[in-house]
Amino acid sequence: MDYRDLPIRDDLRELTPYGAPQIDVPYPLNTNENPYGPPPELVADLARAVTEAATTLNRYPDRDATDLRKDLADYLGHGLTVGNVWAANGSNEILQQILQVFGGPGRSAIGFEPSYSMHRLIALATATEWISGLREGDYTLDAAKAVAAIERHQPDIVFLTSPNNPTGTAMDLDVIRAVVKAADGVGAMVVVDEAYFEFARPGTPSALTLLPEAVPDGKPGRLIVTRTMSKAFAMAGARVGYLAADPAVIDALLLVRLPYHLSALTQAAARTALKHVTALLGTVDAVKAQRDRIVGELTALGLHVVPSDANFVFFGVPGGDQKALWQRVLDHGVLIRDVGIPGMLRVTAGTESETTAFLDALKESLAVLDGES
Ligand SMILES: *Cc1c(COP(=O)(O)O)cnc(C)c1O
Repeated sequence: MDYRDLPIRDDLRELTPYGAPQIDVPYPLNTNENPYGPPPELVADLARAVTEAATTLNRYPDRDATDLRKDLADYLGHGLTVGNVWAANGSNEILQQILQVFGGPGRSAIGFEPSYSMHRLIALATATEWISGLREGDYTLDAAKAVAAIERHQPDIVFLTSPNNPTGTAMDLDVIRAVVKAADGVGAMVVVDEAYFEFARPGTPSALTLLPEAVPDGKPGRLIVTRTMSKAFAMAGARVGYLAADPAVIDALLLVRLPYHLSALTQAAARTALKHVTALLGTVDAVKAQRDRIVGELTALGLHVVPSDANFVFFGVPGGDQKALWQRVLDHGVLIRDVGIPGMLRVTAGTESETTAFLDALKESLAVLDGES
C-alpha cells in the first residue's frame, strides 16, 4: 500500500516526512534535548497543576492563553507585554501559523542554508515556494549577500536562525538589522528563530532588542522572534513554543489558529515550568560546559569543529564518510545526527557522563575507521 495512490496534493508528492530517528539507545544525543529532566520540585508542582486543570477538563481552555502569554512576556523582559507574545504547541506550530498567514500559494519564503530543515518543510506543507539562500563557508551570513538575495527574490517571509541549527552559529545584530531593513523594502516578514538562545555565549544579543526599532513609519513591525520551551527549558515533551512580535502580528495569527489549540493541560504545565525558571535554566551552564568540552576535545583530535552558541556541536568527519562514522558511534549506543550534509555530523551536549560516552565512542570509531582505510 502506497499513500501516493491516494489523491494527495500534487505538490506534496516529492516531499519526505521529517524523520530524526527515534531509536531506543543509552545515549540519545541527536535531537538537542536538554539531558537533564525537569527538577523534582517542578515534577511535583506539575502533578498538582495538572490535577487542578483536570477538574475542569469538561470546559474548553482559554483560547487566547492569556495568563501563559503574560508569564512568557515577563520571562522575556525587553518591555514586552501579553499583546506582544503568542504561544502554541511547539515553535513548529508557531512557524506553521506564520506560514499559513504570510505564506501560502503564490507566495515564497527564503532561508539561508544549512539551517533548520523544518522551515523549508513547513513552507512546502503550506504550499509556500521555498528559496534556498546560502551561508558562507564558515556558516555565518553575509549581510550584503542576504540583502541582495532578498531584493532579487522578493520573498514574503525571511527566515533567520540564531544560534543556527545544525551549525550552532549565532548572528550579529547588524546582520539581522540589515535583513529587517531589506525585508521592509520588499514588504516581507522576518522570522528570527531563537530556539537555542539561552545557550548563547555571553554578549550574544537577542533579536528581541530590535523589536522596538523594527517599526516602519506608522505600520506594524514585521519582525517576529520565535522561542521554545523544548531546549533550555527541558520541556520538549510538553510541546510549548512562543513568539514575540508587534501585537498586529498576533491579531493576524488569530485568523488561522485552530480554536482552543493549546490544551488546558499544556497551558498549566507551561505556566508551572515558568515558576521554576531559575532551577530549569540552572542546567544551562552545565550543558554549555559540556558543549565547550566537546569543542575542545574534537579540536584537540584535529577535527574541523564549528564554534557553537547552542547546545550541540557540528563537526567535520575525517575522510568525509559521515554515514560510516555515524553507524560506528551508534554501535556504541550513542545516537548522534547526520543532517545530510556530506562529511559533517552534529552531536548534542549531554550530561558529563553522556558526553564522555560520546567522546569515547568517537575516538574508538575514528581509530577503527582509520585502520580500515
Ligand atoms: C528544536 C528546534 C525548534 C523547536 O521546535 P519545537 O516545536 O518548539 O519543539 C525550533 N527551531 C529550531 C531551529 C530548532 O532546532
